[in-house]
Amino acid sequence: MDSGARNRLKLWLRSEKALGLPSVALSGSGAVGIEDISGAAAPAPVGECAGEDCGAATAPAPPTAAPVVLPPADRRRGDETGNAAALFAPAAEQPGFDAPVLSPEEKRSRLLALDNNEVRGCTKCRLCETRTQTVFGEGDADAKIFFIGEGPGENEDLTGRPFVGRAGEMLNKWIAAMGLKREQVFIANIVKCRPPGNRVPAPDEVATCTPYLQRQLEIVRPKVIVTLGLPSAKYMLQSNSTMGRLRGQWHEWRGIRLMPTFHPAYVLRSYTNEVRAAVWDDLKKVMAEVGLPPPKQRSPS
Ligand code: URA
Ligand code: SF4
Repeated sequence: MDSGARNRLKLWLRSEKALGLPSVALSGSGAVGIEDISGAAAPAPVGECAGEDCGAATAPAPPTAAPVVLPPADRRRGDETGNAAALFAPAAEQPGFDAPVLSPEEKRSRLLALDNNEVRGCTKCRLCETRTQTVFGEGDADAKIFFIGEGPGENEDLTGRPFVGRAGEMLNKWIAAMGLKREQVFIANIVKCRPPGNRVPAPDEVATCTPYLQRQLEIVRPKVIVTLGLPSAKYMLQSNSTMGRLRGQWHEWRGIRLMPTFHPAYVLRSYTNEVRAAVWDDLKKVMAEVGLPPPKQRSPS
C-alpha cells in the first residue's frame, strides 16, 4: 500500500471511530500533511496553568453594581435547545479586525504573556471566587482552526486545561477525524473560570471575560473559528438565533470565517446518527476551508 492510500485508510478509520458513521469513502490524493495547515513545526501548547488560586477571601467585588441575572440553574452546558437568548447583550456593532499578523514565535510569546500576566491572577468577575485554576486555552499559537467552547468544567478547573473531560475526549476524536492532532489547533472558552455547577456563564461574566478571548483571537488570527454549542455561537455572532439555524452555515467574526457546530457534550447526550452526521458535515466544511481534503461520506444510516 502506498503512503497516500495508507493515509486515506487512517483518516477513514478515525472518522468511523469519531463519529460512528457507517461509511466514509475517501477521494482525492491523500491526507494533507499536518504541517501543511499548521504552519510552525511542533509548537508547545500554551496555557498549561500552574494552578494559582485567586485568593477568594481577598478578591475584590466584581466592578459592576448592576443587578446580576443568573441563568436558570438547570441550564447545563450543551443544552442546544435551551433559550439562552436573554443571557447575552444585544447585538453590538463589531469593530473591524485590524490586528497585525504576527510571526508564530511572537504569537506564542504574546499568548504566554496574556496568560501569565493577566488571566491567571484575574479577579475581574465572581467566577474567581469558586475556581480552582483559570483555563486559558491551549494549542498551536499559529493554528488555522480555533475552537471555542463555553467554559471550563470540573476536570478543566482541576487541571487548568480546556476540554479534558468526556466532552474533551469527544472533541479529540473530531480533531483526529479531521486528520489533525490536538496540538495543531487552538482550543479556548468564552469564560476562563468554571461557572459553579457547570451553569451557563452569566451575561456580566461573559462581558467581563471575553476581552481575553478577543485578544487570543487577534493574536492567533486563525483561518476558521469553530464555536462549540449555542452559547459560544450566540456570543461570537451576537445573535439570538437557534442552533438549528446557525450551525452548518458559514458566518463571520471580524472577517474570519466562523462555523457553529454542536457542543461535544450535547453530542454525547444526543448520540444519534443525525446529530453525528451534522457535526461531521460541519467539520468537513471546515476541513475544505483550511485546505484539508475532505473524506467523502456516503449518506449516514
Ligand atoms: N466544556 C466546555 O465548554 N469547555 C471546556 O473546556 C470543557 C467542557
Ligand atoms: Fe477573570 Fe474571566 Fe475568570 Fe472572570 S472568568 S475571573 S473575567 S478570567
